[in-house]
Amino acid sequence: MLDGKIVITCACTGAETTKAQNPALPISPEEVAQTAYDARQAGAAILHLHVRTAEGRPTQDPARFREVIAAVRRKTDIVVEITTGGAVGDTPEERLRPVVELEPEMASLDCGTVNFGDEYIVNTLPVMREFASQFRAHKIRATLECFDLGHVYASRILLKEGLIEAPLHYGFVLNVPGAVPYSVANLEAFASALPAGADFTVMGIGRASLSAQFGAVARGGWIRVGFEDNVYFSKGVLAESNAQLVERAARITREAGLAPASPDDVRTYLKLRG
Ligand code: ZN
Repeated sequence: MLDGKIVITCACTGAETTKAQNPALPISPEEVAQTAYDARQAGAAILHLHVRTAEGRPTQDPARFREVIAAVRRKTDIVVEITTGGAVGDTPEERLRPVVELEPEMASLDCGTVNFGDEYIVNTLPVMREFASQFRAHKIRATLECFDLGHVYASRILLKEGLIEAPLHYGFVLNVPGAVPYSVANLEAFASALPAGADFTVMGIGRASLSAQFGAVARGGWIRVGFEDNVYFSKGVLAESNAQLVERAARITREAGLAPASPDDVRTYLKLRG
């Protein structure tokens, strides 16, 4: 446990969200960098990053990641976690490239196959082993993303095989259409299946975002918010910015008698490369 503190992650862009859904969606390197700065000021310690082409399409092009990360670095010390989930339809090789070439401090590692609305995300155990091996070789801390209870158990196979090691950080992605809805009981099922000593961040997709934040605080977890997961502030009301969502998460954290962790807290606690 990170004593007395909660790590807030801001997932500011994602692969699927569009400016039509929320005009404040950051896409250009400058927009993402400003968002990262504002989110950090509001209490976020980690930026979960997907990048887009100039036309707004999701891409795993390492050159685009390099450009966006450089812009973020000029603005703020926030920890950058890049996606290896990519967009629906990306091959494992495409998804892994920016991690191998850019060696970020953190990256997401999807722990299994799952429905994603009418699409699906495929991660076989051999693919997960390859990802975990590359993360280890490049000293990148994984956020082990679990969309299903079986994913938590699949991650335990990687642990048993020595492909991942403590400190362990999980991300529970709840309320994806076609997968597991957010509920206190479902969160408890995921959390109680974790290896001893693991930390977890809760991501409630869409309308589950706010209740999942309270669930995370109650269960000793961390919080993720941002336009990747949810573009609304409340029912029918769009969020003005990613920072507005982070501000509320920080407020909930403080009301619980806790403090938002800083990027350096995360670097120390999760033993990041820095
Ligand atoms: Zn993502």
